[in-house]
Amino acid sequence: MGFDLDRFEGPVDPDLICKLCGKVLEDPLSTPCGHVFCAACALQWLSKVSSCPVLCQKITTKELNHVLPLKNLVLKLDVKCDHRERGCNRVMKLQHLSEHAEMCEFSPVRCRNEGCDAVLILKDVASHMRERCEHRSVEVCKDGCGLALSLKEKSEDHSCLQALKTHICLLQTKALSLEEELKSQSLSFSKRERSLLSKLSALHCELHITALTFQKKITEYKSRIDSLSNRCLLPLDKGEETRSLKVTLHRTSGSLGFSIIGGRLCEEPEEHEDISDGIYISKIVENGAADKAGLHVHDRIIEVCQ
Ligand SMILES: [Zn+2]
Ligand SMILES: [Zn+2]
Ligand SMILES: [Zn+2]
Ligand SMILES: [Zn+2]
Ligand SMILES: [Zn+2]
Repeated sequence: MGFDLDRFEGPVDPDLICKLCGKVLEDPLSTPCGHVFCAACALQWLSKVSSCPVLCQKITTKELNHVLPLKNLVLKLDVKCDHRERGCNRVMKLQHLSEHAEMCEFSPVRCRNEGCDAVLILKDVASHMRERCEHRSVEVCKDGCGLALSLKEKSEDHSCLQALKTHICLLQTKALSLEEELKSQSLSFSKRERSLLSKLSALHCELHITALTFQKKITEYKSRIDSLSNRCLLPLDKGEETRSLKVTLHRTSGSLGFSIIGGRLCEEPEEHEDISDGIYISKIVENGAADKAGLHVHDRIIEVCQ
């Protein structure tokens, strides 16, 4: 349902009026055939009839689209305050109405003095309660009950016994309503607690599964690292690659100019403990055949020809 026409200041453009309710478009939806209606009006219509409300073609609710520019146009129309009859003459854009209504000093407020049913406007309620309300307390009874007496009670014949009885009755009603409230609050709290607990346990489950997945991944990576380090038989300087070299040495003065060692490395054994057996060069004679051929200490001898 749209906004009542009489809420608007001045005449409203007929294009902004819903053909279904005859009021100003509220949250307009457009049909594929280009007709526009209030969202509530269009949805209500389509729940009974499966065609455009002007009966031009068959449509479904899925084909309806919001028309934001039109909605904004309506929100920019000037409206009167809802409390105009109470005295508010403010006119504002529709989009600012709710903001104004919250603090409009002409909005209705009930007097809070006990026993008073008067409904006033916001700007008058304080002075009514303080100065004009006949239920405002004016003094404390000095005859024994000690209750605050309102103007009305003071002018009538006050009986301490009757007043106390009424007061107790009132307190009992208040206590009852508080108890009810407490019950409903604790009910809603326990509901909330249950839902939070179930959420928590779901989270625990999720966490557990995630932790397991990570554990699996860690094990997988560890085994990959193990297999990789098993493959690295040669001690590598950082960043250097392993490569095989074919070297031909020419024997001079009866020596090839290097010594070999079998098995593990002669240096830094603790860092390369998982290096498997092999034959390595342990010493190079300076200017010997091996030195000239470019062999180094720690090179592994893979194969010897002849
Ligand atoms: Zn149509
Ligand atoms: Zn409508
Ligand atoms: Zn107002
Ligand atoms: Zn009052
Ligand atoms: Zn009294």
